[in-house]
Amino acid sequence: MTEGQIANIDLVKQVNAAAVYRIIDQQGPVSRIQIADICQLAPASITKITRQMLEHGLIREEALLESTGGRRAIALVAEQQRFQFISCRLGRKSVHIGLYNLAAKELARIEQPLTEREREPVIASLKSALECFIASHKKQINQLIGLAVTLPGLVNPESGEVLYMPSLSLAGSPLASELETHFKLPTFIGNDTRSLALAEHFFGASRDCQDSILVSVHNGTGAGIISKGKVLLGQNRNVGEIGHIQVERFGRRCQCGNFGCLETIVSNPAILERTRELLTRGHVSLLDPAALDIESLCSAANRGDPLACEVIRQTGEYLGQTIAIMVNLFNPQKVLLAGEIVAAQKVLIPAIQRCVEHQSLPSFHAGLPIEPAAFQSQATMGGVALIKRALLEGDLLQRMMEM
Ligand SMILES: [Zn+2]
Repeated sequence: MTEGQIANIDLVKQVNAAAVYRIIDQQGPVSRIQIADICQLAPASITKITRQMLEHGLIREEALLESTGGRRAIALVAEQQRFQFISCRLGRKSVHIGLYNLAAKELARIEQPLTEREREPVIASLKSALECFIASHKKQINQLIGLAVTLPGLVNPESGEVLYMPSLSLAGSPLASELETHFKLPTFIGNDTRSLALAEHFFGASRDCQDSILVSVHNGTGAGIISKGKVLLGQNRNVGEIGHIQVERFGRRCQCGNFGCLETIVSNPAILERTRELLTRGHVSLLDPAALDIESLCSAANRGDPLACEVIRQTGEYLGQTIAIMVNLFNPQKVLLAGEIVAAQKVLIPAIQRCVEHQSLPSFHAGLPIEPAAFQSQATMGGVALIKRALLEGDLLQRMMEM
C-alpha cells in the first residue's frame, strides 16, 4: 500500500468513529444495532469501534429498561463527567478561564486582568494564568483532554495562527501550537463571536435550527453564521465581519481605516459617545452623564426615558439594516443578539424587526424569531463549542483514543 492509501484508511477510520460517537452522544442511550442502522456500517465495525471507545472510557454501557424482543438490550451513552477541558477567552483587557466537563457544565471560572500589549508578554501572561488555574483546580480535574482559546480577532483555525487582534500585537503568532507544545494538550482556537454562534447551536438558543445568525455588539460588532449546523467559512477563514459594512458614507473614521462602518455607530463605545453628545446638548433625561454606561442607558430606556429610548431605537435601526441584508443573503431560521445592549430588548428588538420587515423578502422574514442569545455573560462558552466540534468531527476524538 502507498502512503496515500494508508492515510486514506486512517481518515475513513476517523470519520467512521466520529459518526458512531455523534450518534451515541446525541441519540444515546442507543444500542449497537440501532447505531449500525443509522450510520449504515457493518455490525462488526460498530462492535470494533465501540470496543475501542469503551476501552478509552469515552462511552459506557447501560442496560435498557425495556426491549422489544423480551431480551434485555445493552445501550451505549457518552461519558461526560470523567473528562475535563479548559476554555479561555482572551480579551483586550482581561482573560476569562473556565473549567468544563464534556456535558458543557462549568466547574470553575476566573477572570484575570491583562495589562500587557506586546506579543511575548501577552503569551507569557496567558500561559502563567492557565498554569495557575490548572494547579489550583487539580481536585476537580480527572483527565484534561484539551484547551480552547477564543478571541475577538481573526484566526486561521487550521494553522492555529492569529491573523488580527485588536489592541494586542498578536498578529502572525502561532498561538495554538505554542500553547499545545507548552501544555501538551490538543489546542483549538477560534474567533469569539463565531464560536459563540456555534455554542448557541450546540447548547443554547439555536439548538432547534440548522441555519442561524448570532449578532454580537460589544467593543465592536460582529456576526457568526451557522449554515447546516456548521460555522460558515470563506477560504478557511471565518466570515461575518458585519461591523465593517458601511452604513454612513460620510460617517466617522473606523479603526479599519474606512468611514461610517456599522461599528462606528453600533458598538458600546459609539453608543455611549452618542448618548453623551445628546446629553451635552442639554436634552432632559434620567441619565447621569458622570455615571453613564450601557447598563444605565438600557435601564433608562426600559423606564421610558425619551433620550435613552431614542438612542436604543437608532441603534436598532442601524443594526436592523445590516441584519436585513443578512436575512436576504442567508435566509436563517433564527437571529440571536448578544451584548449588554440586549438588556433594552423591548425597545431594541422592535426597532430591528421593523427594519427587517421593510428591507428583506417577506417569505424570509415571516415568523423569523429575533431574540436574545442564551449565553450573554459566559465568555468561555465559545471555546466549549470548539471542543465539542472537535469531538463530534473526530479530530479530538481520535487523539483521545490515542491518549
Ligand atoms: Zn471598519
